[in-house]
Amino acid sequence: MRIVVLTGGIGGAKFLVGAREYARRTGAELTAVVNVGDDVILHGLRISPDLDSVMYTLGGGADPERGWGRAGETWAVKNELAAYQAEPTWFGLGDRDVATHLVRTTMLNAGYPLSAVTEALCARWQPGVRLLPATDDRLETHVVVSDPEPAAGDTVDDDSGTGPVGGERAIHFQEWWIRHRGALPTHRFVFVGAAQAKPAAGVLEALAAADVMLIAPSNPVVSIAPVLAVPGIREALAGNPAPVVGVSPIIGDAPVRGMADRCLAVLGEPCTAAGVAALYGARRTAGLLDGWLVDPVDDATRVDGIEVRAVPLWMSDPAATAAMVEAAIELADRPTGVTG
Ligand code: GDP
Ligand code: CA
Repeated sequence: MRIVVLTGGIGGAKFLVGAREYARRTGAELTAVVNVGDDVILHGLRISPDLDSVMYTLGGGADPERGWGRAGETWAVKNELAAYQAEPTWFGLGDRDVATHLVRTTMLNAGYPLSAVTEALCARWQPGVRLLPATDDRLETHVVVSDPEPAAGDTVDDDSGTGPVGGERAIHFQEWWIRHRGALPTHRFVFVGAAQAKPAAGVLEALAAADVMLIAPSNPVVSIAPVLAVPGIREALAGNPAPVVGVSPIIGDAPVRGMADRCLAVLGEPCTAAGVAALYGARRTAGLLDGWLVDPVDDATRVDGIEVRAVPLWMSDPAATAAMVEAAIELADRPTGVTG
C-alpha cells in the first residue's frame, strides 16, 4: 500500500512518527508532502522550518521539549548575531541547526532544487519516510496585518475609512507568529509565489500512485492550505479516486498546541473539528475529504458528504499515533457513500 501524507511541521512530524510505525508493521510505503510556506531567508540562510521539524523528529534529532530545532542545541551564533544587532533577533537560530541551513543554502546556490537538497539532508537523518517539499519554487506565507507603527512612506489602503492609523502591511508568517505571537490585528494570509509554483519533483507522481491520501492534524490555514495552493496538487488529490482521509488538529474546540485558533479566526471559521472539515470540504462537493477523524469528545461532529469517525486523537506516543493512522486507513477502506 502506498500512503501519501500532506503535512506541516511539528504536529505533522508527530503524526508521521505514528504513520511510519504503521507502515513498518504493514509493509506500506510512506511519502510526506511537506509545507514550505514557513520557509524564510534569514542572515543569508535558507530556513525550511517544517521540513526540518519533520526530518529531525523522524531522524531522532529533534528537541523533545521545545518541539522544534535540534536536541542538545547551543546558541552561540544567535548570541553573536545579537551582539552585532543583526536583525532579525527574534528568530531562534541554533548552532547545530545552522549547519543544516548552511548545507541547504550552499546546495540551493549551486543550483540543486529543494527536493534534491532535502533528499541529501535525509541521507544523514534516515527519516524512513520519503520527504518531498510541496514545491521547489519559492512560496512564502505572508500575513496582512494592521501595522501599529506604520513606517515612513507607507501607503494606507483604507477601505475601512478608519483613517491613516494602522495601514495594512504584509509581514512574513514567521515574523507574525514568532515576533508578534499572532497578536496583531490580522486580515488575511497570502501565499506569495503560489500561483507560479509547480509541484516539486515527485509530488504529482506520488499522489497519482497513492492508495490512500492522509491530511495530517496540521494547521489547516498555514500548513495544509499552502501545500494545496500549489497549482496541480489539489487537482492531483481530486484526480486520484483513492480515498482522502483527514485527521482533526482540533480536539474539543481548541488546537492541541500552536495557533490554529488564531488562524481560523482570521478566516472567520469556527475552531472546531467540524469547522476544519468544512474548510477542506467533501470530495462529493468539489472539496477534498472522503473521511474525517475526530476525537471522541467531538463525537457529535457531522459534516455533509464526509464520513466522520471518532477515535482518540492525542498523539501521546508513537503507538497511540499509529493507532490513529490505522483508524484513518480503516475509514479509507470503507466503501464511500456510507454515512453515520
Ligand atoms: P507546525 O507547522 O509546526 O505549526 O505544525 P503543524 O501545522 O503540522 O501542526 C500544528 C497542529 O498540530 C496544531 O493545530 C495542533 O492542534 C496539532 N496537534 C499537535 N499535537 C496534536 C495531537 O496530539 N493531536 C492532534 N489531533 N493534533 C495535534
Ligand atoms: Ca509550520
